[in-house]
Amino acid sequence: MSPDRSTEKPLSRRALLAGATASAAWPVWAQARCSLRGRSIAVGAPGGLAIGLQSYPRTLALDDREVVLTLDDGPLPGPTDRVLDALRMFDARATFFLIGRNAAANPGHVRRMAAEGHTLAHHTYSHPWTLRQRSFLAGTQDIEQGIGAVQSVLGLSPAQVATPLFRYPGFADTPALNAWLAAKDIAVIGSDLWASDWTAMSPERQLNLLMGRLARARKGIVLLHDVVGQTAAMFPAFLKALCDGGYKVAHMTAGSSAPGLMQAPGNWRSQTERIIAGRG
Ligand SMILES: [Zn+2]
Repeated sequence: MSPDRSTEKPLSRRALLAGATASAAWPVWAQARCSLRGRSIAVGAPGGLAIGLQSYPRTLALDDREVVLTLDDGPLPGPTDRVLDALRMFDARATFFLIGRNAAANPGHVRRMAAEGHTLAHHTYSHPWTLRQRSFLAGTQDIEQGIGAVQSVLGLSPAQVATPLFRYPGFADTPALNAWLAAKDIAVIGSDLWASDWTAMSPERQLNLLMGRLARARKGIVLLHDVVGQTAAMFPAFLKALCDGGYKVAHMTAGSSAPGLMQAPGNWRSQTERIIAGRG
């Protein structure tokens, strides 16, 4: 039965979030007909590719108000379900950088992601913090085990890399691992902006922070974590805000050639190296 829309009134952001954080049925506002679906961008990495302005001086060539949604560390029953529900509601496709052991523990979620058209990408098996503190061999084994865990859930050969997209835990790459990934034609995907959702804050503050950053950047590869409760709670309101702002969600898919790229300005500096150095 469809809701009686004649009684609907515009809702404040606070009301939207109140609805988004309720565990009951979907609020009426979320049933609004709005499709965020944008173009697909096939990403291949023959000979290697590393993108995302927070770590590398190049990124996907996106249009104004075009975003790519990436979600790390899942799946986790509960928060991941809410993120997937919201993506379905708003007809958006995301890229999930899965932790292999979480994929193995929650195969139904991995299969749901695949069935609903999302891209399943890789983020190691055990999320070492970080791969810079591991040997090269331990790093390659953890990455391969992570890819194998996802492939196994999907019924693919562990040796077959169906989606050659990888993100380092903590963005902590190494030259040797980058070269190893490049030799396998696996792309390293960083981010252009993030939600800082590793810092505890209310869903409302999370939404305001992210939309403020997006208003300044106007486009980009966005990093979020589907395993974080505050992110899952604000996700429907986030997608609604993208709709209201005229954004479209482009979808990274596995490709065989390099995508169109945009080079960073000459004064570019890595944001993630400063953070990684600060951890030491
Ligand atoms: Zn992670």
